[in-house]
Amino acid sequence: MLRSPPTVLRDSASFRAACDDARARGARVGFVPTMGALHEGHLELVTRARATCDFVVVSIFVNPTQFGPNEDFARYPRDEAGDLERLASVSTDAVFLPTPDAMYPAGERTRVHVGGLGDHFCGPFRPGHFEGVATIVAKFFGLVGQATAVFGRKDYQQLAILRRLATDLFLPITVVGVPTVRESDGLAKSSRNRYLTAEARAEAVAIPRALAGAHARFAAGERHAAALVGPVRDALRSTFDSVDYADLGDPDTLVPFPDEARVPPRTLLAVAVRTGTTRLIDNVVLGEDRSPVPEGS
Ligand code: AMP
Repeated sequence: MLRSPPTVLRDSASFRAACDDARARGARVGFVPTMGALHEGHLELVTRARATCDFVVVSIFVNPTQFGPNEDFARYPRDEAGDLERLASVSTDAVFLPTPDAMYPAGERTRVHVGGLGDHFCGPFRPGHFEGVATIVAKFFGLVGQATAVFGRKDYQQLAILRRLATDLFLPITVVGVPTVRESDGLAKSSRNRYLTAEARAEAVAIPRALAGAHARFAAGERHAAALVGPVRDALRSTFDSVDYADLGDPDTLVPFPDEARVPPRTLLAVAVRTGTTRLIDNVVLGEDRSPVPEGS
């Protein structure tokens, strides 16, 4: 089906006006924040927004404040033309493409810190990251107004932090989380997969396989933390240059479980590894999510 290309909005006033106008027409607004280099995971979020909303707007913004000084801000993949084409292939009404100056105008000073949820997992490895994420998303939420905002469970900790943010600040935003979209071998789709050499891409399948192993042990009744996560750590350490963490934790508070714990019926297993200069993350909520590797593959 031929669809019209989305309207491109570049300044915050026209983004706010487009959302306000849509609501004035009686439309429900759906909002999908991204950093671009869009793939099927992002498009799934758009499809999910479209399922309950009449006006769907996607933001594409590589947010400088969520990158550390030694991270990949400068080389993060940017592909505006390709992204607009991909968004035209799903049903997107508007795309917000601000400049850094539009989101961080001279004199702005506010930073948003969501307490506690960023203390473990990725938090210690990316100082300032979640504050940057919470700050930019709070700015977006301030512009978009009453809406449903859709995020991926691939960034599970980010999703938990943004849910908390919307609740704690009484924002008129319903936060929705969408299951991780994966390649056929189970690797979570990610804009950063573009960085991987063929060899690193082949090795990366160790991530979903390790998670799937824990998923199978959990399904067979294993509840001892060390028995669930120990083989995950072994597999990742034997494959990757370094493993930031492979930890179990409470899926709501994001407090890790110690190795000697018996874990509850819903347990987050999250991992982050580095291969070359690329950092990859993945997770599964044991007792809730499907296995990251389809049965029989
Ligand atoms: P990013 O552009 O990486 O900042 O991601 C933008 C949004 O897309 C976030 O809510 C991510 O969690 C989500 N996302 C990224 N990759 C996937 C994926 N493989 N499956 C589902 N959602 C994803």
